[in-house]
Amino acid sequence: MDGNLGTIDSAAMLAQVQAWSAINTGTGNLAGLAEQAAALAEAFGALPATVELVDPAPVTAIAADGSAFDKPHGQHLVVRVRPQANRRILLTGHMDTVFPADHTFQHQRWLDEETLNGPGVADMKGGIAVMLHALLAFEQTPGAGALGYDILINSDEETGSLASADLIAQLAAGKLAALTYEPAALPDGTLAHERGGTGNYSITFAGKSAHAGRNPHEGRNAVVAAADLILRLKALESAEITINPAKLEGGAANNVVPDHAVLRFNVRPKTVEAGAAFDSVLNDLLCSIETTHDIATHRHGGVTRPPKKVDAAAQRLFDLVRECGAELGQDIRWQSTGGVCDGNNIAACGVPVVDTMGVRGGAIHSPDEYLIVPSLAERARLSARVIERLASGALQ
Ligand SMILES: [Zn+2]
Repeated sequence: MDGNLGTIDSAAMLAQVQAWSAINTGTGNLAGLAEQAAALAEAFGALPATVELVDPAPVTAIAADGSAFDKPHGQHLVVRVRPQANRRILLTGHMDTVFPADHTFQHQRWLDEETLNGPGVADMKGGIAVMLHALLAFEQTPGAGALGYDILINSDEETGSLASADLIAQLAAGKLAALTYEPAALPDGTLAHERGGTGNYSITFAGKSAHAGRNPHEGRNAVVAAADLILRLKALESAEITINPAKLEGGAANNVVPDHAVLRFNVRPKTVEAGAAFDSVLNDLLCSIETTHDIATHRHGGVTRPPKKVDAAAQRLFDLVRECGAELGQDIRWQSTGGVCDGNNIAACGVPVVDTMGVRGGAIHSPDEYLIVPSLAERARLSARVIERLASGALQ
C-alpha cells in the first residue's frame, strides 16, 4: 500500500525548519514576515504551482485613548496547483509566531538528539515543512493529477487572522476538505477535534471630566461606567460562554473625574448560538450602561472565530486520517480543546477540516517550545497518505 508514495527527505525538512525558525516572524514584524514569505515562495515553487503574495485586508484597532487606527500586517502566501481539477482541497498554515522581534526567545537549542527547542519550530514552521513535503511526496504518485489544491500561509494567525479571514473563506469555498498544519494537540500526536470559539471586544467610554472637589456632580465618570460593565459582563457567564475582562485603560489625575476609558475583553462561546446571543445582549447592556451613567459608549470587535463543531462530513475526514495512520503504524486519536485556530474559520464555511496535521511537539507560545524532530517525516507520511486518498475519491 505504501509503494506509490515518494520518499520523504527528513534532512531537508529539518534544514528548512531551522532556517525558517531563524527568521523572526512575530505578527508585527513586517520585515521578518516579508523575508519569511520570500523563503516560503521559493520553497513552495518546487510544486507544479503558481505562487502569489496577497496583500493583507485592512484591520482597524482601538488605541488606549479610544481612537481607531489601521493596524499593519504582512502579506499572505497563496499557492495554487491544478485549479481546474474537479476534486480540490485547501491546505493552510501560518508563518507568524507569538514572539516579537524584541523577545528574548530567538535561538534554537537541542534538548536531546531528537528534540529541538526554538521559536516556531512546532507552531508552525515545522508544520509548514510537513505540508510541503507531504505534497512533494504526493506529487510523485500516479494519481496526483486527479487532485487540485490551494495553499494559504497567512501572516496573522496568532492575532486572530483578521487580515486573512476573508481570504480563508474565499479559498475554502468549493473545497472537498481542508488540512491545517497546527501542531498536534498533544505530544503523542493526538489531534484537536471540536473547538470552542473566540471573540475580542474593545468598548470605549466617553464621559465628562470635572474637578473632583469643586463640581464632581457635573462629571460623568468613564472608569466607573467601565467597572459597572465588567461586573455585569461577568454575571452573563454560563456553561455556554466564558467572559474575560482583560484590560482596562483610561482615567486621569486623582482630582479629575475621568472622561474616558477603554475596556478590552475576550469571550469563549461553546456554540455559535451562544456567541450570537452574547453579541446581542451586549448591545442591550451598553444601552443600559449609557443610561445609568449618562455617558456614550462605542463597541468594536466581535466573535471572529466561531466554535468548531465536527459534523458527519468532518468526522469522515477524521476517520480517514485515523485509517491512514493505522496503515502507517501510527495510532491516531483526537480530543476536544478550548484553543482556536484557522480551522474554526474553515469549519464555519462548511468544509470538513482536520487542523492539527502538523508536527508533534509542545510548550508552544513559550520559550520552551519544542519540536520532536522524527515527527517531521512521520507526519508528512501521514498527510501524504491522506491527500492520496482524497485524490482517489475518499469523502465522495
Ligand atoms: Zn499556530
